[in-house]
Amino acid sequence: MPVIIDKDKCTGCGLCVKACPFKALLIVDKLAQVDEAACTMCGVCGKPRVCPFQAIEVRLDKAKRNRKLDEYRNVWVFAEQKKGVIQGVVYELLGKARQLADIRQQQVWAVLLGRNVGHTTQDLIARGADGVIVVDDPALEHFEDGAYSNVLTRLIRKYKPEAVLTGATAIGRSLIPRVAVQVGTGLTADCTGLDIDGETGLLRQTRPAFGGNIMATILCPNHRPQMATVRHKVMPEAQPDSSRTGQVVKEAFDPGDSFSLSRVLEAITIPEDTVNITEASIIISGGRGMKKPENFALLHDLAKAVGGAVGASRAAVDEGWIPYSHQVGQTGKTVNPKVYIACGISGQIQHLIGMQSADIIVAINKDPDAPMMKIATFALCGDLFEIIPEIIRQAG
Ligand SMILES: Cc1cc2nc3c(=O)[nH]c(=O)nc-3n(C[C@H](O)[C@H](O)[C@H](O)COP(=O)(O)OP(=O)(O)OC[C@H]3O[C@@H](n4cnc5c(N)ncnc54)[C@H](O)[C@@H]3O)c2cc1C
Repeated sequence: MPVIIDKDKCTGCGLCVKACPFKALLIVDKLAQVDEAACTMCGVCGKPRVCPFQAIEVRLDKAKRNRKLDEYRNVWVFAEQKKGVIQGVVYELLGKARQLADIRQQQVWAVLLGRNVGHTTQDLIARGADGVIVVDDPALEHFEDGAYSNVLTRLIRKYKPEAVLTGATAIGRSLIPRVAVQVGTGLTADCTGLDIDGETGLLRQTRPAFGGNIMATILCPNHRPQMATVRHKVMPEAQPDSSRTGQVVKEAFDPGDSFSLSRVLEAITIPEDTVNITEASIIISGGRGMKKPENFALLHDLAKAVGGAVGASRAAVDEGWIPYSHQVGQTGKTVNPKVYIACGISGQIQHLIGMQSADIIVAINKDPDAPMMKIATFALCGDLFEIIPEIIRQAG
């Protein structure tokens, strides 16, 4: 038995029961006991902070632990949806999940939570899922991190996936760290690359680190599932194949899932045309060089003239000139448009990370040595307040 309870020291206080992510500890006759079948040997209960009486000793049996890890199979994709519409990042995740699962000769499963979402299952299968687990319940109508994370945690404990991928969206970033804590595993946030070792199943999770100056590849060798969030627009979408077939498994919402520290009072929709920069094929972004908020009207005029959306640097957002939902970059959105027009943006690495994969980059800057001017396909050196009105005039 790798988890040993010292009966003389155990007081039956139950703190270890609360700490175990796998519900593998229970109190019987005022003593802690281990449910071997549920224990994954994660080692959490052996940490000194868990048992104040030092009554638990964990003896790591590597062979046994590896056998436990081998119980985890398949790659899961969290099928984020809004009002029953699957979000674009999910198709990107399905494309990558398909590759990873094929290397491991395993399956891809999408996990779909929401209300009246059943009509999307065939779409997920067409994009590469071998199966979809659906929990369709009025309690899941609006995303709410408590209920969603409780449901996903319960499903992970039941089905034991080897890897779980989620979009690094506002929803994914709120949801998945809670799930990772509840199942006692690691999480790599904001990945830009994923690969897998075909033999060991170790997921190589790559993401920018130290302000984007290096790329770090992170492994999660001792815990399962391996969990990662992935930025929108960094991986190609899986193309639909309507001839694909797959399984749909319906799971019920458990009333216990609704426990949450927060409650959704109202869902307010922000008009998509003003903020949906991740989907736009032309983006006109403004930085500190715009000087004041009123000047963003110029960018909106240009966006209207060319059918684009307006983005911004963090400097402009921090100044309060434009809402955060427009921010491009490391702490904003990653975009992949056909044309990106950077107006008065110097091009610091944290901004470039979010837009450098654009097909065509146009920089408008009065400083010819600005980094953005160096990477631009077309660098227009001059005063943006003269150049932009001229472009609008010519586009009109
Ligand atoms: C952890 C971290 C995360 C970050 N995340 C992000 C992020 O997500 N997105 C982001 O953008 N930044 C981010 N930053 C900030 C980033 O480092 C830069 O400070 C920021 O991008 C600079 O914004 P800017 O280019 O608009 O301003 P500046 O660097 O001040 O550049 C303004 C530019 O405007 C030009 N200009 C001025 N007037 C005119 C004119 N009349 N005509 C033409 N050109 C003109 C100037 O020559 C200059 O090049 C982050 C920083 C950190 C530390």
